[in-house]
Amino acid sequence: MEIDFELVLEGISLGLDVVILGFLYKSYESCAAYIQALKEAEQVEISELGQLAAPKSQPRSWLQFWKKNKSAPTTSGTPSDYRYVCLRGIVEPLDKSRLLKSTDNKSTGVIHKIITKEVATVRNGTRLWVDEERIVKNIQHEIPWGLKSQETSNATKQTLVQVIEGITADRLDMAVVRDEFTPAAFTLSGWLGGWVSGVQLKGINEIEEMVIDGSLMTAVGELVINSDGTMQLRSPSNSDQALPFILSTLPYSALLSTYETLISVCKWSLFFFGGVGMVLSSLMIRKWFKIRYGRRHAREEDDILRDLCESRRSTGENDDLPDWQRCVICLVRNREVIVLPCGHVCLCADCMVLINRQNILQRNCPMCRQRIEQIARAFVP
Ligand SMILES: [Zn+2]
Ligand SMILES: [Zn+2]
Repeated sequence: MEIDFELVLEGISLGLDVVILGFLYKSYESCAAYIQALKEAEQVEISELGQLAAPKSQPRSWLQFWKKNKSAPTTSGTPSDYRYVCLRGIVEPLDKSRLLKSTDNKSTGVIHKIITKEVATVRNGTRLWVDEERIVKNIQHEIPWGLKSQETSNATKQTLVQVIEGITADRLDMAVVRDEFTPAAFTLSGWLGGWVSGVQLKGINEIEEMVIDGSLMTAVGELVINSDGTMQLRSPSNSDQALPFILSTLPYSALLSTYETLISVCKWSLFFFGGVGMVLSSLMIRKWFKIRYGRRHAREEDDILRDLCESRRSTGENDDLPDWQRCVICLVRNREVIVLPCGHVCLCADCMVLINRQNILQRNCPMCRQRIEQIARAFVP
């Protein structure tokens, strides 16, 4: 069985398309989940939380909760309320003396990350050199911290919502305090060694990020209000729903619109690559049917041609044919075949067999180059 090159190429493209579609769908799904979660999240003000959490005064909005959870334990120490909330406040360390410092000592923060990447050009399987990054060091630190209200006027005692393990957030936006690239020193022996091994080190890239204290942050997560009045915001991963834990410098509306833009990009890309997939698969199906039809057709034609060859052999070759009656390819045998739709009678059965063997899908008439759709026995006087 011959392999159709175009068909293989289309198959590979279709496979690639399916992989892209899968990836896009995954992104679409996670974007949709984030949007859903952001919309579900209850918008709360940290300053108002202070009043809500006060052990003795329970404002109206709180009643609903008590009605729903009459049996909830309210003894001190055990968490008494879980809510998925979105709040925005100022980053504040619990203990100022433990603040983390950036390596240049210019910034301080509560979460500090230094990621060291090795940048190298690597010779891959196809003999091309491509840039590759490899994380060689990933240092992360976090000190206990929380968010306090932006309004500082009415404060006798500021309410602080402690953020638990912010470093594990599903989305954590931090400020880049340093992005430094140190090129590797060039040595001839190193370069030669790199050429042999197929890895040329270009340099080291160090990126330092921080959640800076005093900066504004939006936090989306599970709020726990303990009966002693302390509040914590943590990842909702331990509740039934898999809601995301988000820490971002962007305000809520910007965060939401970021995901909305992303989801529309995903949607249009899905439409586009879905369309490409549909076109590709319909092309492949058409070609497949054509090949099948062509094969069946070819068998019928083979029978005609075999008969023609045999009958000629039994009558013997005719040497004194005039030129106009000789096949245009071999210039020896009689013209025996009519090619359709152009209707040229120009080939002997043997030469037609040869043409068929070359490519059954792309046969052209030797006289006018028109495509041969069908052949039949010609009756030459
Ligand atoms: Zn011939
Ligand atoms: Zn023709």
